[in-house]
Amino acid sequence: MREVQAKTLILGPYHNYNVYRGCTHGCIYCDSRSSCYEIEPPFEDIIVKVNAPALAAAELAKKKTKIVCRSGSMCDPYMPIEEKLELSRRVLEVILKYGHGASFLTKNALALRDLDLFEAIAKNACAVASFTITTTDDELARRIEPSASPPSERLKALSAFAERGIVTGVWMTPVLPWITASEENIRAVVAACAEARVKYIVGTTATTMRDGSREHFYARLDEEFPGLRRQYEQRYGTSYVCKSPGSDHLWDVFTTACDAAGIAWREADIARFFTIRERHPQMSLFDEM
Ligand code: SF4
Repeated sequence: MREVQAKTLILGPYHNYNVYRGCTHGCIYCDSRSSCYEIEPPFEDIIVKVNAPALAAAELAKKKTKIVCRSGSMCDPYMPIEEKLELSRRVLEVILKYGHGASFLTKNALALRDLDLFEAIAKNACAVASFTITTTDDELARRIEPSASPPSERLKALSAFAERGIVTGVWMTPVLPWITASEENIRAVVAACAEARVKYIVGTTATTMRDGSREHFYARLDEEFPGLRRQYEQRYGTSYVCKSPGSDHLWDVFTTACDAAGIAWREADIARFFTIRERHPQMSLFDEM
């Protein structure tokens, strides 16, 4: 663990923030390992922004309108180190204090610890709880996301958030060619989401690879799926976006299954869940200060 004093926290038009840099969940396809993000190796040696709650307070106190602060775009806010440090929780307390909205994306059921805060934020402004689910198969997930909670636990956590009236979503990303890129897998993910009362799914039929993430992915493929690397190299070379074989059909399967289950998948429909309704009904996630 490396402690740093960050200069800023909540960034960009979508108000993203990360209290950690690096991650210990070990996903074989991790895009955050890409060289372009310049996270100083080793990736598993977490950089901790120890002043994140103070920065959040300073930045949020200045906002003239309410915003939805989103964590988890780069690094998981609920990796195991959070259990002890509680930095993600302390930033949520600041968000609640200043009356803003909050959303997270994680692969760890530890997020359930902060259910009370999300419930309070939802009443006050807007709260969205999202988990990544790339497969419903716990054993397959152990091979591709080894240190994250099994998908069965993530789905239980999603149900718990939904039961408390919090909007929930799933990121079914990435879809890995020849591993999770099957009709059966996509149907199973959508069906499990429907059972957990998930409101939206961000879907895809592809994965991405860049310098840094590609080398890690191939090394892990050699360990977990011997022989598959060759298929990837032959089909995708150095491409960034790697569409699965039968991509158009898989997308049809995904969107049809979501429509049948009443789960939103279009970007415009998903954006509506990130709207601060009660105090500022005219404001949305995409409004500027
Ligand atoms: S949870 Fe996200 S940041 Fe962490 S290893 Fe997995 S893909 Fe990378």
